[in-house]
Amino acid sequence: MNYPQRIKNWLLDLVFPVRCVNCGKFGEYLCSGCLNQVPVRENFECIGCKQPAPLGQTCRFCQPENPADNLFVVSDYKSGLVQKIIKTFKFRFVAELSNPLSRLAEKYIRRLQKRKGFNIFGGNPLLMPVPMHQRRENWRGFNQSALLAKSLADKFQMEYAAGALVKIKNKTPQTDIKERTERLANQKGAFFCAEPEKVSGRAVLLIDDVCTTGATLNECAKVLKENGVKNVMVLVIARG
Ligand SMILES: [Zn+2]
Ligand SMILES: [Zn+2]
Repeated sequence: MNYPQRIKNWLLDLVFPVRCVNCGKFGEYLCSGCLNQVPVRENFECIGCKQPAPLGQTCRFCQPENPADNLFVVSDYKSGLVQKIIKTFKFRFVAELSNPLSRLAEKYIRRLQKRKGFNIFGGNPLLMPVPMHQRRENWRGFNQSALLAKSLADKFQMEYAAGALVKIKNKTPQTDIKERTERLANQKGAFFCAEPEKVSGRAVLLIDDVCTTGATLNECAKVLKENGVKNVMVLVIARG
């Protein structure tokens, strides 16, 4: 960090001291005590029909319309605490919250290995965020999915491929669209694979903070598969 940045942060800390979003304790955006209260999910569902599915595998009925192969949901959006963290992270520009969220994802991934015997990194997947349009990222200052994906790649020493998928159309944010069909149409043709040689023949672990219908994730998965990706797993913090 350079000198002016340090002064800026020092001033910010003075005016807006870092406090836990849940209990208000000073020093961290989410204290360890509150982080431990966040529920970690033990059950799995199909990305398409939301029915229970072993290891979140897309069921055969949903496969034709859902190119994503597996869905892993770290926590429960019904938990008020999870909603609070995600909303603060997303809308109040608190980039530092990627750290507690990735710690939560790390806990989930380790449990998956220990309790289900499933190593999510077994197929040596490339870690990728759901890309955000550059203009939107500039405005926000960061892409929350990218911070999460990067942090997980670092923790588990996996390859991080940030620029392989690019968002080409800046459309209405998905959260502003209520109808499922509109959401689906909104995402058509929104992504582009910029590094086909890098992804071809590989497995991908696509990371996002929240999944609703799964339309965005499926659109990314579709583009990746058109570019030779063999398997697309999806990991999200919560399903709204
Ligand atoms: Zn706390
Ligand atoms: Zn299904």
